[in-house]
Amino acid sequence: MGNSIRLDGNNPEEAFSMSNGGTDAFLNVLLISGSPLAKTISQKRLLVWLAEKDQIVTRGNSGFDIIDMPWDPDTFGEDKAFLITVINAALERKNWELLDYSPDSKIIDSYLEQFKSLVTAVTPQIINKAALHDWLSDKDNDDPVNCGFPKCRKHGVLLSFFGCQVCNG
Ligand SMILES: [Zn+2]
Repeated sequence: MGNSIRLDGNNPEEAFSMSNGGTDAFLNVLLISGSPLAKTISQKRLLVWLAEKDQIVTRGNSGFDIIDMPWDPDTFGEDKAFLITVINAALERKNWELLDYSPDSKIIDSYLEQFKSLVTAVTPQIINKAALHDWLSDKDNDDPVNCGFPKCRKHGVLLSFFGCQVCNG
């Protein structure tokens, strides 16, 4: 079983698939490169949402639609630009020395480039405007998004309620 990342479930051709191991590495590099770049709450939320796709608990079921990320319509443009900056930082191997292994660069670059092209295609018109509210309303008071967005001391990665996605791998 792999994981499919789609722009929008209604357009199945705008998608790519990753193996389970590949998904873990894909999330590792996005979080390790991107976490130090997240400054605003809406930016941190996007990365924590990705961290919640941790393979440890969702094996084989980590696929998602980009329109269902917790986009804040008020800051959509700057948050989309932020996410592309995060992908570029991962492509530049920013902070990869903090990983205790070397991801397969060729495969990861292919995933990151395909993810970038889907994120580039997302628009305010097609985002799921209920996604942010629905996601937040399911959260406990002690969820990291409600507790000042703590980070892993070892990896500098924003934590989800599963902990550090990199430590968990
Ligand atoms: Zn960690």
